[in-house]
Amino acid sequence: MTFSSRELKARAVAEGFNLVGITPARPAPHLDAYLSWIDARMHGEMGYLARADRVARRRDLNAILPGVRSLVIVGLDYALAAGVVPAEVLNDPARGRIAAYAWGRDYHDVLLPRLEALATWLGARAGHAWRAYVDTGALLEREHAQQAGLGFIGKNTLLIHPRRGSGFLLGEFLTTAEFDHYDPPGRETLCGRCTRCLAACPTQAFPQPYVLDARRCLSYLTIELKGWIPRGLRPQMGNWVFGCDVCQEVCPWQRFGVRVVEAALLPVDADRAAPRLADLLALDEAAFRRRFGGSPVERLGRARLVRNACVAAGNSRQPALLPLLQTLLADPDPLVRGHAGWALARLGGAWALDLWRDRLRDEPEAQVRREFELSRAEYPRPD
Ligand code: SF4
Ligand code: SF4
Repeated sequence: MTFSSRELKARAVAEGFNLVGITPARPAPHLDAYLSWIDARMHGEMGYLARADRVARRRDLNAILPGVRSLVIVGLDYALAAGVVPAEVLNDPARGRIAAYAWGRDYHDVLLPRLEALATWLGARAGHAWRAYVDTGALLEREHAQQAGLGFIGKNTLLIHPRRGSGFLLGEFLTTAEFDHYDPPGRETLCGRCTRCLAACPTQAFPQPYVLDARRCLSYLTIELKGWIPRGLRPQMGNWVFGCDVCQEVCPWQRFGVRVVEAALLPVDADRAAPRLADLLALDEAAFRRRFGGSPVERLGRARLVRNACVAAGNSRQPALLPLLQTLLADPDPLVRGHAGWALARLGGAWALDLWRDRLRDEPEAQVRREFELSRAEYPRPD
């Protein structure tokens, strides 16, 4: 039995999705490029991406859902379009900046229940087996979305819709149902000779067009990386404390960004999009949960957010933050102590190094002591 794609799409819109496409369940077209990317270890510490069972699922969607026939891919707009928060607030060096997709509620909590409701609705009519994912599936989501006609993959490796830019979140369900109509694939690319995203990336994370070295990307460094942020990249992080939007913001297709109506993905206020660094540096566990509970930032945990805020403080040229950084030299988490020391030395120079050295007498962590030595070499005492 085949099911009406028109009815399914109408239902998806009724569930609040802005985009929906349907594609036959075939392997993603550029799987080889993905495997080469894994071989080059550009996925960094995200070892789950290279796990044999997950690679097998990417090769054959039947390994996820036996008998799978179709993929239904949905998109929900978020507030990447300019104007929601003033640029002078976002770029204020005294504030840390959060990527736009994380300004509101955790998008998993927003998308997944609707996706499951859509799949259940289809099940009541078509009787099917299904698996729904938001982010967590072992499949090349953007490529399947391109195959489902939802846009093209840009040189920045993101899915771009020719009439709404790249400011939307994806979810999908695999289903054993067949449809009467499948969407034609989107164009392979519409980037032409543009290279804006490649040039604008603050950490030069694109070794070539369409290839992202995650190990240099701020989204990886601020969110996925659990340990020490490479010192050479810290000065290039600017005020980003959670993710980065630069390669999307500079994209000319972003001029088609739409006004977002999904209140759950909008920030409650400007502080939610760009919190003051002084507030972030002063967070304890309870304050962190109060402030970021239920948002994508919550999964970072307090220590890694404060680590990122220390780097942003080091880049801020705001001497008013020195006392807070000084306090963090005694933080229970070595990651925080080491990054606070780096920021203190960058902001305060020789005075700060003297202060940090005094604290090192009781320092149990070798990596923190090493951070001190590296900072001392980098910011030598003036003669
Ligand atoms: Fe570069 Fe930022 Fe894009 Fe990552 S998200 S590739 S750091 S511009
Ligand atoms: Fe393509 Fe230019 Fe957009 Fe990059 S900025 S994704 S090159 S159109």
